[in-house]
Amino acid sequence: MKYILVSGGVISGIGKGVIASSTGLLLKTLGYNVTAIKIDPYMNIDAGTMSPTEHGEVFVLDDGGEADLDLGNYERYLNVTLGRDNNITTGKIYREVIEKERRGDYLGKTVQVIPHVTDAIQDWVERVAQVPVDESGEAPEVCIIELGGTVGDIESAPFVEAMRQFQFRVGKDNFALLHVSLVPSINGELKTKPTQASIRDLRGLGLVPDLIACRCPHALPLSVTSKISMFCHVANEQVLAVHDVSSLYHVPLLLKDQGLIGFLRNRLKLDDVRIAESRQARGNKLLTMWKDLTISYDRLFDKVSICLVGKYTSLQDSYTSVIKSLEHAAMQCGRKLQITWVEASDLELEAQHDRPKEFHAAWQAVCTANGILVPGGFGLRGTEGMIAAAKWAREKKVPYLGICLGFQIAVIEFCRNVLGLKDAHSAELLESTPHPVVIFMPEISKTHLGGTMRLGLRPTVFQPNTEWSAVRQLYANADVIWERHRHRYEVNPAYVQQVEKAGLAFVGRDERGERMQVAELQGHPYFVGLQAHPEFCTRPLNPSPAFLGFIAAAAGVLPEQIKRQANYEPPHPKAHLHMENRDVPQVEVVTEQVAKVTVA
Ligand code: GLN
Repeated sequence: MKYILVSGGVISGIGKGVIASSTGLLLKTLGYNVTAIKIDPYMNIDAGTMSPTEHGEVFVLDDGGEADLDLGNYERYLNVTLGRDNNITTGKIYREVIEKERRGDYLGKTVQVIPHVTDAIQDWVERVAQVPVDESGEAPEVCIIELGGTVGDIESAPFVEAMRQFQFRVGKDNFALLHVSLVPSINGELKTKPTQASIRDLRGLGLVPDLIACRCPHALPLSVTSKISMFCHVANEQVLAVHDVSSLYHVPLLLKDQGLIGFLRNRLKLDDVRIAESRQARGNKLLTMWKDLTISYDRLFDKVSICLVGKYTSLQDSYTSVIKSLEHAAMQCGRKLQITWVEASDLELEAQHDRPKEFHAAWQAVCTANGILVPGGFGLRGTEGMIAAAKWAREKKVPYLGICLGFQIAVIEFCRNVLGLKDAHSAELLESTPHPVVIFMPEISKTHLGGTMRLGLRPTVFQPNTEWSAVRQLYANADVIWERHRHRYEVNPAYVQQVEKAGLAFVGRDERGERMQVAELQGHPYFVGLQAHPEFCTRPLNPSPAFLGFIAAAAGVLPEQIKRQANYEPPHPKAHLHMENRDVPQVEVVTEQVAKVTVA
């Protein structure tokens, strides 16, 4: 196993995840199987209990793991399926060490950060790196380890120390370090001092950079790279400039042009790792596809405008996968994506009095968009605004896509304004409602919030006589589809008949037919809601069908795209079959139920 540690200096949020994923992608173009591990040095066990406005979107994995959004980058760039263990946190490591201590496994020793915590980290990395991440079922040859935060933080100290030891555990030829730093431009002058200081910190902790990737506003002149090379004690070829680019798809090519592949090949003696010719050919094909993708993305001119009505719009990272899904779909439709962000509460009546400017701007955005999207979310704030936006979309026949909360919102709106159930609401948002059309799911814990939702890959079964459904056709007319879920509430079965009679059809349901999972309005260009989060399984060259339909309808090309989808295959058609290897008891049940579904 070859390990590439990607660390960061100066400040966080400068694109370490993208550089790490791009490095993995380049190694995939050589034919290697690449996996990834993200280390988050916070105390939370996982990202599930964290606010999206604090840390960006919570990415959901097949096995129900609630992870950092970088795992999404890895899945999309490397076209792999990761599990919860691919995201290490301080909380997880300490929990493991403390559980071991309570069992008495340390045989009377004093349990300390070094060696017990640092050993636990290294064992974890070595174990998880071996886990197959695609349907080939083969163990990867390369593992990218991304260390979150910046080197020098108190939080990351045990991980930095673990990695210092790790380079000796696995041997020099099997471990390389790529450090991502910032070269800011101050009054037009590129400053290298922060990079120098950050490399000094790194070396002081016993880690030696093999490559320094400098994030910078524009390409670095030779004088600057030479300076970094001299002061940071590395050769010129070890300094890479990652300047701002028109799209992130350029980053792998930018790294490739600066010799990243050649360097790692030598440094890690990659040629000693034999891989089959067929895999090399697959790698070459991937590189060509990626180049084509980058070029065609730059050549998009016709626009499609989407209005995203959410409640975490203050941090766009809260919706990373949604944005990626829209982008991938727009690319397939040959359109340049234009997103307008609307803070849902700005659409509400109070806003008209309190913040008239925001109110009018928000409605202007909703009324002029080609499509309206209401993504996932929790809690009451902004939901009346979302309901108003869904009403506009339904009545004016503007394409609508509701994801999770957005699906529930569409149902509430329909019940209120079509069925005339005036006070229809979700029990999550107003417990005392006389018409709880969305209710708490019986199996969910009311006392514990961490990891207790209905999580991970679940089947949706299309109902009989739903061949007309655009969503179903976009999934190549499948009987069963698998998407990832993350919710506590569901559509109240007591209202289903009434809703369907009035035209909103629950075309997709769970394996027992009891839980409503996909709604679609007949006679509308595209009015679709999904209880699942299909955004977590999109790929640049294989967009999520539900998003594709939405963008295609917004761009007026739905019939063509439906035809094109006849050969659609999900990124990993058999991913759920591998999941019993992963430590998630509730998923086994799901697999059995699906076996039942298939037999039936
Ligand atoms: N709050 C809703 C629920 O728990 C929707 C969740 C979501 O959008 N992820 O069911």
